[in-house]
Amino acid sequence: MDTFYVNGRWVRSHSTQQVVVTNPATEESLGQVTLGDVTDVEAVVDAARRAGPGWARTPVSERAALLRAIAAELTSCHEEIAQLETAEVGSPITLSRRAHAGSPIHFFASAADLIEQSKPDETIPGATVLREPYGVVGAITPWNYPLHQSAAKIAPALAAGNTVVYKPSEITPLGAYALTEAIDSVGLPPGVFNMVIGDGTTVGARIASHPDVDLVSFTGSTQAGIQVATAAAATVKKVSLELGGKSPAVILPDAPLQPAVQQALRSGFLNSGQTCMALTRILVDRARLAETETIVRDTVAGYVVGDPSAPGTDYGPLASKAQQERVQDYIRRGQQEGLRLLTGGPDRPATLSHGYYLPLTVFSDVPPHSALVTDEIFGPVLVIQPYESIQEAIDLANRTPYGLCAGVWGATRSEAVEVARQLQAGQVFIDGAGFNPGVPFGGYKRSGTGREYGRYGLEEFQQIKGLVFGADATSSASRR
Ligand code: NAD
Repeated sequence: MDTFYVNGRWVRSHSTQQVVVTNPATEESLGQVTLGDVTDVEAVVDAARRAGPGWARTPVSERAALLRAIAAELTSCHEEIAQLETAEVGSPITLSRRAHAGSPIHFFASAADLIEQSKPDETIPGATVLREPYGVVGAITPWNYPLHQSAAKIAPALAAGNTVVYKPSEITPLGAYALTEAIDSVGLPPGVFNMVIGDGTTVGARIASHPDVDLVSFTGSTQAGIQVATAAAATVKKVSLELGGKSPAVILPDAPLQPAVQQALRSGFLNSGQTCMALTRILVDRARLAETETIVRDTVAGYVVGDPSAPGTDYGPLASKAQQERVQDYIRRGQQEGLRLLTGGPDRPATLSHGYYLPLTVFSDVPPHSALVTDEIFGPVLVIQPYESIQEAIDLANRTPYGLCAGVWGATRSEAVEVARQLQAGQVFIDGAGFNPGVPFGGYKRSGTGREYGRYGLEEFQQIKGLVFGADATSSASRR
C-alpha cells in the first residue's frame, strides 16, 4: 500500500520508504506500507485547511447524517475489520469484535447524537457563549487499540465541525486503511478527512509543529506525548494528550477477595497487558497476601494463551517483536532484582513454537521503588503490592508518575468511593466496573491533559467564544 487519503482521493506517497506489517501470532508478513514524509504532511494539512470553513458552516444535521453513515458502513464490515485487527494486533477475536471493530461504530454514532443534542449557543448575563470548531485537528494514535483510539478522536472532531489530519500508528496501519475506506464511502466533502501514514519523529512531529494545525489530539506514550507538546508549543496550539498508565487495583481489607482479584487480573492482562487503562498493580492487605497469591495462581492457570483467531483463546501474542523483547527485559529485570515470581517468566510458553507470545506473569510482594512498580511495561506483567493500612494503600496507589485509572473494591460502596476520592487518577472503577464509553476518560499527572468520550470528549474539540453585548443600536434607534 503506497497511497494516502488526501482531499477526498487516494494519492501516491512522495516517499519510497516501506515498512512490513507482521502478523504477531504467525510472524508472517501481512503486506508492506509506504511511510510518508513532510511533503505528504503539507498536502494533507493544506487539504484540511481549505475544507475547514465549508465544513464548519455545514448544518449540524448534515454532519450528523454523514457520521451515522460512517457508523453504518463500519457495521457492514464489522467482521472483516475484526479479523483484520486480530491479524494485525494479535488481539483475541472476541476482543477485536468488541473493541477494535465495535467501538468505532459506537463513537461515530454517538458523536452524531451528541452534536445534535448539544446546545451551540448559551446565554449568560450580558453575553452569548458560542462553541466553535478549532479548525484543523491532527489526530495521532497508537497501535494497541488502533481503531478504537482513532475513532474516539476523529468522530467528535468532525462532529464539532473540525477537519481532520489522521496519522495512525505505523505499526498497525492496515486497520487505518479500512477505517479510511469506510469514511471515504459516505462522501464527505473533499479535505474534511485526510489520512497519512508515517513514523512519529518525521510525520507525527511535523503534524504537531505545523502552523496550520490548530489542535493536536495525541494518544500514545508519555515520552512521545512530551515531544508532541514540545513541538506544538511554538505555535501555541491546543494539545490534548492521552498517555501511559500504571494503574492500581486497590482491594480494601474487607472487600470480597476472589472476585476482586479475578477482575483485577482480567483488567491487567486485557489485550496481553497492552491496554493503557490496565490495572497492573494489585494492592492487597498484607494479612490476605497468601490467599491472594493462591487465587492468582489458580486463575492464571485457567487462562488460555494462544492463537488469537481461535474462539476459546483468552490472550494472544504481544503486538510486535520489539514489544515482546521490551517486556522480556522487564521480567528479567524483576528476576535480577530478586522479586518473587508467582507465575510466568521471560520465555515464550513451551506449547507455542512461534509468535511474539509471553506467559502471563505475576510478581508478588514487590517494593514500591522497583521499576516493575514505577514503569509502564505494557505487557502481561503484573505486580502484587501488600499494604498494612488503608492510608498506606492510598499512598502506594498514588506513588507513580502516572494517574490514568484505578480500581477500588470495598466492603461497602461508600468505603470504596471514599478511597476513590483520594486517588490521583482520571477514572476510577468501583467494585469491578468495566469500560464505559460515555464516561470522561483521561489522565492526571503524566498520564495526560485531555478528556475523551461522551460530552466531555466532544467539548475537547470545541473552542469557546463570548459575544459581549453593548446597547442595541436598533432598539435605541427606535426609541428616538
Ligand atoms: P507511541 O508514543 O510510541 O506512538 C503513538 C503514536 O505517536 C504513533 O502514531 C507514533 O508514530 C506517534 N509518535 C511517536 N513519537 C512521536 C513524536 N515525537 N511526535 C509525534 N508523533 C509521535 O505509543 P505506542 O507504543 O504506539 O502506544 C502505546 C502507548 O500508548 C502506551 O504508553 C499506552 O499507555 C498509550 N496509550 C494511552 C491511551 C490513553 O487513552 N491514555 C490509550 C492507548 C494507548
